[in-house]
This record gives sequence, C-alpha cells and structure tokens, in this order.
Amino acid sequence: MALQPSNLRKALGSITDPESGKDIVTAGMVKDIRSEGDDISIELELLGANNPMQARFSEQIEQAIRATSSECKEPVGAVEVTFTADTRSENERVKDETNPLPNVKKIIAVGAGKGGVGKSTVATTLAIGLARQGNKVGLLDGDIYGPSMPTMLGLHREESQAEEGFLLPFKVHGIEAMTIGKLVEPDRALIWRGPRAHSAFSQLATQTKWGELDYLIVDLPPGTGDVPLSLAQLLPLTGAVIVCTPQVVAQDDARRAVRMFQQLGVPILGLVENMSYFVADDGKEYDIFGRGGGEQMASAMNLDYLGGIPIHPDMRIAADSGEPLRNWAINETMSNAFDTVCENLVAASQSATPDRPTISVS
Ligand code: ADP
Repeated sequence: MALQPSNLRKALGSITDPESGKDIVTAGMVKDIRSEGDDISIELELLGANNPMQARFSEQIEQAIRATSSECKEPVGAVEVTFTADTRSENERVKDETNPLPNVKKIIAVGAGKGGVGKSTVATTLAIGLARQGNKVGLLDGDIYGPSMPTMLGLHREESQAEEGFLLPFKVHGIEAMTIGKLVEPDRALIWRGPRAHSAFSQLATQTKWGELDYLIVDLPPGTGDVPLSLAQLLPLTGAVIVCTPQVVAQDDARRAVRMFQQLGVPILGLVENMSYFVADDGKEYDIFGRGGGEQMASAMNLDYLGGIPIHPDMRIAADSGEPLRNWAINETMSNAFDTVCENLVAASQSATPDRPTISVS
C-alpha cells in the first residue's frame, strides 16, 4: 500500500518556510499532492518565479517523505516536486489577506522623492479638501522620522487618548487624525531605524481606532525607505499620490518614488505639483519655479496629473499656526486649485480597480 495523504501532509508539515516562519502546509504553499502507484508528486507555490529556495525545498520534501515512508513501512517510488509562482505584489498579497482596517474604504499614500517639497502640506490639503466635499476622512501622519501633523493640525491643544488598547484619533478641522508626534518626543521619533521604524509605523497604522472612513490619507516619510514598504505590507492601499515641485532638478527624485510604489504593486493615482505658481493679490499668476514641470513628467511617465497647488506665504502661516482650513480663504484661485486636485483624486481612486495586473517584486 502507498503512503496515505494524511501521512504525506504530516511529512510536509515538518518543513518550515523561513519567509513566514510557518510550516509549508499551514502557510498554504502546498498546492497539490498526488500519488500514482508508489510515485508521489508535490506542487509547491513560492514567491516569484525562479525562487532560489526551490532546490532546498525539493531536497527537504524528498527527505521528509522518505523518512515518513520508512517510519510507516510503506514503499515510496519517485518523489517529484514542481513549483508554481505566487507573483502577486506586496500590496496585492495584503489585499487578499485580512484587512486590519475594515472600516476604511480607500487608503491613499502620499509620497515624495525628497523632503521639503510640501508633501505633508499636500496630504493635509487633500484630507481637509476631501472632507469639505462631504467625505469622511482620516489623516495618518506616517512620517515617523519627522512628524509635522502636531504643528500643521494644531494638535498641541489635544490630549492623546486610548481605548481597549487602541489609539483614538484626534477629531480636528472636520477630519480624524493620528500622528506619532503626539505619542513620543519628536526628537526620539527621528532616530528610529529598520525594525523599530516598522514596528512604530505598524502600531500607528493598525492600532488606531478610526471611525467609518471614505478615505484614509497616509503622509509618508520622504524618499524610498522602509516605511512605504511596511505600509504596502500592512494595509491594502488603493494607490499613491506623488508630490513634486516644478523644477526639472526635482524630477529624478519624484521618478524614484513613482518606481518604488510601482515595484510594490501600488497603483499611482497621480502627481501633484506643489509650489506650482504664485497668485498675487491682484489675481496675477507668476511662475516662480517653472510651472508645468510636474505635468510634463506625469505625461512622460504615463501618469495622471492631479493638478498644481500654488505657493503662497499664507499657506505657510496656516501650517505653522495649525489652521489648515484657512487655506481655503486665501483667494479663489487657490481654493479652486485645492478643490480640483481633490476632485481629480476622487476620480482617479474610483478608476483604480482593486484587481489590476500585478508586478512581481522577486
Ligand atoms: P515635506 O512634507 O515635503 O517635507 P512640508 O509640507 O512640511 O514639506 O512643507 C515644507 C514647508 O513649506 C512648510 O513650512 C510648509 O508650510 C511650506 N509649504 C509647503 N507647501 C507650500 C505652499 N504651496 N505655499 C507656501 N508654503 C508651502
């Protein structure tokens, strides 16, 4: 008599997948077990095609099956192991697994190639603008190295609160908000690296008790570090918005940020050009940094352009004083610009279908 499927499963269950730390049966990697006479064939799914672990798994599987065969005193003939590839991206995988934020309809990351381009300002403007258009919105300050939301949202006036082990978001300016800047001394946040950064961000991202939200906007640290990767692994992202300034010299950094999200399988919802132009009191517009650079780059990279946000000293003043709603009172050109970017984002996030083609990160 040949080896029973239950014995085969037991044999395979003794092999650990170093990636997940689980055994290969529990990790759901064993896709098929067949026996024909004494011959056995196993189909195993690994991350990405040509995974370097193939040879090791083949050897371990054959050894485990032969050991079980001699234990049960059942003969075994040839053992064949074939491999299929799980080519889902980081973000597709998390979408298929348990969603830690079931109350949130759409999660949108805001990234930039480098600091100082106004990424946090744009993230705040998007969150407040979407709320002004009637949506329920949360803003997560994921910039754990330099959180700016305590200042930009005036959170020094608020007390941190927790309930049943969850952080309660601050309810300010018509949105819900959470930032690490209210939980630790900002100077300490700055030195987090690697696993500690991941764990700090992961707590913020998954242990905040958001209400029912239409949109959660996540302000990421600048550049292409660990936090965007953590985010893509933790939360099912609808997509990412990239913020850049118009100058040609700033575009290489923005391109790198775009590529990073694409590699993680996160759709790019579009590009926002910040500090696009200046609107004087008489309504005249001045192109300070060369308006249009962002739009040209978006078109060269085949991305949507969500619009430009003007530069204005009152925006800096509103940010420093923690009163983001004041931005809508600066002048009509500016409030129209904010609203247009938000409307374009809504449209882009509606057309970002959840099951678009995936990109392998192997
Ligand atoms: P980042 O998140 O990219 O580092 P911030 O959003 O913190 O950048 O912006 C950097 C500084 O520039 C802040 O003082 C902010 O108030 C100011 N700023 C950003 N965008 C504008 C704008 N469109 N007009 C005027 N000031 C701006």
